[in-house]
Amino acid sequence: MRPWFTTEQLSPDTWVISEYRHWEETHCYLLIGEDRALLIDTGLGICNIYNEVRKLTDKPVTAIATHIHWDHIGGHKYFPRFYAHQAELPWLQGEFPLSAETVREMVLDRCEAPEDFDINTYEMFQGTPARILQGGETLDLGGRTIQVLHTPGHSPGHLCFWEEARGDLYTGDLVYLDTLFAYYPSTDPDAYLASLEAVAALPARRVLPAHHSLDVPPALPTQMRDALRQLKREGKLRHGAGTFQYDGWAIWL
Ligand SMILES: [Zn+2]
Ligand SMILES: [Zn+2]
Repeated sequence: MRPWFTTEQLSPDTWVISEYRHWEETHCYLLIGEDRALLIDTGLGICNIYNEVRKLTDKPVTAIATHIHWDHIGGHKYFPRFYAHQAELPWLQGEFPLSAETVREMVLDRCEAPEDFDINTYEMFQGTPARILQGGETLDLGGRTIQVLHTPGHSPGHLCFWEEARGDLYTGDLVYLDTLFAYYPSTDPDAYLASLEAVAALPARRVLPAHHSLDVPPALPTQMRDALRQLKREGKLRHGAGTFQYDGWAIWL
């Protein structure tokens, strides 16, 4: 059986750690600076991502989730020094809108879990961040700086990360090649469009999503923005409007 984590090097100091044995095909990104490293998302929490990270760097690591959904914070327990957006703090303190049972069903859904994995011990991560973000911060890793963008829509405190010097845009669940989710009560279709307007305006040379194919055309955020603008003009950018299919992606409202 293939290993749980698949690690690929994107540049000499940037890695993607993927979990292809779950249907969500989650990606976490490790950005290594001269002084410290940033781990964007910590994955499903089924296997120990800390051991993978330690194979790649011995620098201090700060974890930041693109948002507080279970599939992006599963490894936070290994990184007590993590940052989170203010809008999602209640979800780290017992107020996540799904039950533990529902989350466990999603963990096992279309998942080739390791034999020794016990779903009964799976808990959605809860904790207190070392730093609370609002969006607009610049994170200095030593020799590389990462901008924090507040991009709500998929979730209220969703973050994208922009490394301007390289043209790298880390898009989390805002932009990826598959069905985007903007139908749960905690999503906001209008905010989703506003966030796409913001990221589409950046001169991204590479778009790095949190799920599915890593081969994302840099023009995808612009295509999504245009599609959502059209839905808005038609009065369809609202909860309950249905699922709309496009070339290589869809949005469920
Ligand atoms: Zn999500
Ligand atoms: Zn996700």
